[in-house]
Amino acid sequence: MSTGTSRGTFAKASVRDAEVEGRTVLVRVDFNVPLDGDRVVDDTRIRAALPTIVLLRERGAKVVLISHLGRPKHREPELSMAPVAARLGELADAEVVLAPGVVGDDVRKVVAGASAEAIVLVENSRYEPGEKANDPGLARELAALADLYVNDAFGAAHRAHATTEGVARHLDAYAGLLLEREVRELTAVRDAPRRPLCVVLGGAKVTDKIGVLEAFLGIADELLIGGAMCFSFFRAQGIATGDSLVEEEGIALARDVLARAADSPCELRLPEDLVIGDRFSADAEHREHDGVAVPEGWMGLDIGPQTSEAFARVVKAAGTVFWNGPMGAFELAPFAAGTRAVAEAVAGAEGTTVVGGGDSAAALAAFGLADDVDWLSTGGGASLELMEGRELPGVEALRDA
Ligand code: ADP
Ligand code: MG
Repeated sequence: MSTGTSRGTFAKASVRDAEVEGRTVLVRVDFNVPLDGDRVVDDTRIRAALPTIVLLRERGAKVVLISHLGRPKHREPELSMAPVAARLGELADAEVVLAPGVVGDDVRKVVAGASAEAIVLVENSRYEPGEKANDPGLARELAALADLYVNDAFGAAHRAHATTEGVARHLDAYAGLLLEREVRELTAVRDAPRRPLCVVLGGAKVTDKIGVLEAFLGIADELLIGGAMCFSFFRAQGIATGDSLVEEEGIALARDVLARAADSPCELRLPEDLVIGDRFSADAEHREHDGVAVPEGWMGLDIGPQTSEAFARVVKAAGTVFWNGPMGAFELAPFAAGTRAVAEAVAGAEGTTVVGGGDSAAALAAFGLADDVDWLSTGGGASLELMEGRELPGVEALRDA
């Protein structure tokens, strides 16, 4: 971990520069949190939105929050924001009023009637079918709730939905503190990394990560590949993968990446040993396996100890590390060691360390290392798209600085 403040450039207007006193501000947050009944299991995303909420309240704004939660089909009550409202009230130490819907007269009345001290949270934005369709009518109704719009939902910024993009066409639109920091930290890795730049990619699917792989082939000094992804690379090299998870579509992509890596200064490293198991289960029969050819009837479920050591060495020597995707099936104890070794190396690295991806973040948290990296992105898909160099509709829609 390095010290220092936020890096990177950001071309959009910040909420810090908005005139908000006495005004009603609609803030798109990412409160898409895991629930167990009516309990919020992990409130990381709620905590991450607090700085923007606190800033707005301190400056005399009335705050109206909106987020999606899960994938409702027909306003399932289990996907109401009520549990989030309760948790937010505790974290913000404020009265949180849950509006009875997303838009409409009843919601407007609640917003108008709420005291300046209260925070209004409207219902799950995906209760409205127009949300994902980016319906212009819904965008106008959302805009009618407030005087000003702030987007702090980095995790949803890669989606052009009514609450992330459509509404921004109707109100003065600013970036929230979290969204701004996310964009700065992630773009700095890509555009101005301290070298050597080491990118560690893992997880289940090559097709999810191919854009990032290709982008970093031209930028990174070291590209380390673990997770189930590596088996598409092995298949592309004609190596047996047994019953390992292989994405057929990924094999051709991997072949292409290997060819391009051969011509590029970027060093691409694949595992040299594995931990194999006879099935995807915590009580699977399992063993360390020299080499990477997986025997019939076995699956590769983690990188092996020599690979862990090699990857850790490269990570520790890096000026900048970007890590996305676990090295193995870390949820299963026998196959967690590779991910733990990489997580510990990233946490202990002297360079700047940035981690993206829901499962990688969960792994860091499970190992108690979440506070030991420089930036832990709250956005899975959004962080990958930004790293690929793609524009995020939820960011583009904001006012230029
Ligand atoms: P992230 O959310 O950090 O981007 P992904 O969603 O791409 O990560 O991948 C995480 C999943 O990949 C985990 O559920 C993990 O079990 C799985 N995984 C990693 N390595 C393997 C493997 N060798 N075999 C099967 N699954 C794997
Ligand atoms: Mg994931």
